Amino acid sequence: MTRIFVCMLLSCLFVISCTNKVTPTLEPEKEPQEQGIPDAEIKIPPGVEKPNYGIIEPTPKTVNQSRVDPPFWWVGMYNPEIQVMIHDNIIGDYTVTVDHPGVTLTKVNKVENPNYLFIDLTISNVAKTGKFPIKLTRNGTTKEYPFELRQRYRTTNRIQGISDKDFVYLLMPDRFSNGDPSNDIVPGMYQDQINRDRMYYRHGGDLQGIINHLDYLKDLGVTALWINPVQENDQPYESYHGYAITDHYMIDRRFGTNKLYKELVDKCHDMGIKVVMDIIHNHVGDKHFFIQDLPSKDWIHQYSAFTRTTYRAPTLMDPYASEADKERMSDAWFDYHMPDLNQKNPLLGKYLTQNNIWWIEFSGIDSYRVDTYAYPDQEYMAEWAKAILQEYPNFHMFAETWVHGSPIQAQFTQNNNLREGYNSNMPAVTDFQLYYAINEALDRNQGWTEGIARVYFTLAKDFLYEDPTRNVVFLDNHDLSRFYSMIKENDDKFKSGISFLLTTRGIPMMYYGTEILLKNYSDPDGKVRQDFPGGWTGDVSNKFTSAGRSEKENETFEFVKKLANYRKNNEVLQTGRLTQFVPEDGVYTYFRHNQQKTVMVMMNTHNNIANVALDRFQERLSTFSKGENIVSGEVFDLGKEMVLPPNQTVILELKK
Ligand code: CA
Repeated sequence: MTRIFVCMLLSCLFVISCTNKVTPTLEPEKEPQEQGIPDAEIKIPPGVEKPNYGIIEPTPKTVNQSRVDPPFWWVGMYNPEIQVMIHDNIIGDYTVTVDHPGVTLTKVNKVENPNYLFIDLTISNVAKTGKFPIKLTRNGTTKEYPFELRQRYRTTNRIQGISDKDFVYLLMPDRFSNGDPSNDIVPGMYQDQINRDRMYYRHGGDLQGIINHLDYLKDLGVTALWINPVQENDQPYESYHGYAITDHYMIDRRFGTNKLYKELVDKCHDMGIKVVMDIIHNHVGDKHFFIQDLPSKDWIHQYSAFTRTTYRAPTLMDPYASEADKERMSDAWFDYHMPDLNQKNPLLGKYLTQNNIWWIEFSGIDSYRVDTYAYPDQEYMAEWAKAILQEYPNFHMFAETWVHGSPIQAQFTQNNNLREGYNSNMPAVTDFQLYYAINEALDRNQGWTEGIARVYFTLAKDFLYEDPTRNVVFLDNHDLSRFYSMIKENDDKFKSGISFLLTTRGIPMMYYGTEILLKNYSDPDGKVRQDFPGGWTGDVSNKFTSAGRSEKENETFEFVKKLANYRKNNEVLQTGRLTQFVPEDGVYTYFRHNQQKTVMVMMNTHNNIANVALDRFQERLSTFSKGENIVSGEVFDLGKEMVLPPNQTVILELKK
């Protein structure tokens, strides 16, 4: 999730929240909008027009470049029905004909704006592959639009899904590495300059930059890449983050091409790395062609004046919620430049779902991370997830659920029986509850329900999920203060956090640069989206190499690498059962175990040395007498007591 904050344009209500600077402590009860952004940082540059806040009419505009979405499809998909959108000047009353073996024209849908036709086709399993035209005729005039049916891909390593066997690395493509300076500036696109000194300008990073550093990621132990959105964001300002899409079918040319994206996925798969695409159903950029030339008034949610969502997800399941609150949560806009899509419009719903299927089939990606999941229409999202999993049963998806409280978060996952009559069909979520808990555990004083107890209580609530091991666990991300800053740059606490991330249940995710101790507070979010040092030719230091890293950065990198690779090579930390013991005196002990191995993790969150008697843990320790520290390799007798230095965590593979 990301927002374009424009304090000077905000209503009185929001001026108050925007002037409150975020404090560098964890504030889990605050919703994202309340975290505020100092407006001095985000002044919109002169010449950038103000967004349209009022009603947008579906009156036809001049179409300079006609388009057909999707540009091609495949024979032999689970769902044989597709809907082709044609966008061109005043075509609403043309007659449509399609003449191709195995393709049946079933319906032509017209909308208020005559620049659009939505054509329903049924593709038989024996339809002929190849190119053919969709013909539009009127009064003896014929227009032809190219379409194509392709053979489906059959290679074995495509579309693997991600699971708790993986270690995910999240990166922002504009900020990771510039592998192709020739695409930094694309003539005709809105942001026609790069400026690495300004956090909201583009910096030039791209897909080639990612490809160039796959060896680095593999060395670190990464097995899956989550890349922030890569589709075109041809917006006048702050387009670098990718969450304001203007063309669903095209990789932003400043990142590369569709072909290069597919190559990136293939190269990753060849190296044992899966790929997660970041998608957004809730909104698009206001320069999207279908916002600039709106198909119908109900394509988006419209208000006579700009109306912001409440960011209050509980209204979706609150038994006492007012209709007004429910409506504003789902239908009001996420931000000024991000019109709120009406997924209940079946033509738009189909357009979005089909686009997501298109990318999976085209590129072979393994998972979707679904941005702002609580904000689109929930019934639509449930149908969407079902449609995706019907086509690709091995695919994985996880929803961004930046919400507060385990029941609220769990309600967004499939088969949970929490919301009567509703099943999201969504396999997993980003585990914000565990993020709040581990950050609090390492940053706050201990108490009966505070500190490390939060981690214990959060995991104890896993009965809410059908399968909590599918959830994505993280210490920070592109919207949050970097973990190293959150724990006040305490190196022991930092290692404790990494240790927890890579040994607890679920799919661990690390934000880029954590392994080299990048820091900063998310006030505003641009500050945690730094360029990876060495990603640009001429950078003062190159932290992709050990020679470019400081001694401390190398120690951190090696620590992450050691743990990640142990995890990668030992199923016990991927899929082994978790047994946790109630924390006592700020010390939290848990075990991962399977038939072959048992790993014991003991975390001291106190500023004092802890002397921990081991007899409490006999049910898991009973047959073991030694422990091998999986980071240092040191082996020692377990004895009756374990001594832990302040704020340190030890991870032991137990031996007989
Ligand atoms: Ca570039």
